[in-house]
Amino acid sequence: MTTLFSRAKSVIPGGVNSPVRSFKAVSGEPFFTESALGARLFTADGRTLVDYVGTWGPAIHGHNCAEIRDALSEALGKGTSFGTPSPPEVAMAEKVVSIVPSVEKVRMCNSGTEATMSAIRLARGYTGRDKIIKFAGCYHGHGDSLLVQAGSGALTLGKPDSAGVPECFAEQTIVLPFNDFAAIDKVFSERGEEIAGLIVEPYPANCGLMLPLTGYLEHLRKITARHQTILIFDEVMTGFRVALGGVQEREGVTPDLTTLGKIIGGGLPVGALGGKSEIMDFLAPDGPVYQAGTLSGNPMAMVAGLTSIKKLEQENPYRFLEEKTDQLKEGILAITKEKGIAVQVPTVPSMLCFYFSEQPVTSFQEVMSSSLNAFPPIFHSLLEEGIYWPPSPFETAFISTVHDNDLISQTLEAFKKAFEKL
Ligand code: PLP
Repeated sequence: MTTLFSRAKSVIPGGVNSPVRSFKAVSGEPFFTESALGARLFTADGRTLVDYVGTWGPAIHGHNCAEIRDALSEALGKGTSFGTPSPPEVAMAEKVVSIVPSVEKVRMCNSGTEATMSAIRLARGYTGRDKIIKFAGCYHGHGDSLLVQAGSGALTLGKPDSAGVPECFAEQTIVLPFNDFAAIDKVFSERGEEIAGLIVEPYPANCGLMLPLTGYLEHLRKITARHQTILIFDEVMTGFRVALGGVQEREGVTPDLTTLGKIIGGGLPVGALGGKSEIMDFLAPDGPVYQAGTLSGNPMAMVAGLTSIKKLEQENPYRFLEEKTDQLKEGILAITKEKGIAVQVPTVPSMLCFYFSEQPVTSFQEVMSSSLNAFPPIFHSLLEEGIYWPPSPFETAFISTVHDNDLISQTLEAFKKAFEKL
């Protein structure tokens, strides 16, 4: 019988529209999802899975959230795209500006990649400089300048430096080790006046979850300010997830520019770039940095995203999400301790991963020297037990507001069996 995946492979490169869905890091074939509700996926071959991928971040309220669905139904009746400004765009911009500490103006686009790509161009246009700094293992989408020592799918597939990126582009990107104070000081002291922007996932979550050492984000803020370099927080994943105002609210560190995506689209394609008015006004049509999009600020995406954000404001679920994340962490640690398996489980509210390592993992080097080979059997065992964990050791699991105690217990039972087989 021809499977969906074999049909897909004959007409879609690798059978998938985004590489990390391919199961390459864990081997085997991906399943196809027919529908989803709450914390569960219903697969085309009739299985029900508890989902910890959450469509890679957007589904903080769980799948097919009733309020978002209702808002979309209403918007659908009005039309799906107008090619003129529409009221939901203004409401969305006002909402983001009112919530995200660093954002005075915001431009909507269609993906996180577009947002980071535009942020880099804006930093270059504003400063008149060319070089940018990124960190090894951080992923900022698939823009040319940023596919240098990248995380996420690029790392999973062993291609952190993509073919097709001209060397002269890559040369403009300086890659540094995250959490290394001396490395950043050295680069700025040697060539600070060449550096347009520094882009960072303030909680790097595309090589597992690597948390900043005390004072590191503050240090990045101070040193970039001193050298008039634009500090860009890529909060595509963490924005509205670890706190309403993202990492910048939680840590009290204010970047110059912020990129957003995922949650602010409520499950529809979206991205956003925001920051200080003085910098944002460099964008076209008022400024010299060109940036545009046929479907940017699309009314469907705006309505879905606004509904998602308003629900977060009303429900303030962050304590609940933190509790559930901690429950899962404590459970995994208890199981592995009993089995004598050394595991680290870094967490922030609603995000976690596990590394097979004796020591806390705070650098990309430590991520790579953890026992990555132990991950695939755990993943497959969890899947057999009906738990869909991200299919790569370099991805972070997401918890939604509908992951209740029963689901957490079911998940921990599955982990118990998985670690028993190891
Ligand atoms: N930035 C971060 C931190 C991400 O995690 C991602 C995607 O996972 C992106 C940017 C790119 O977003 P998109 O996949 O919407 O292009």
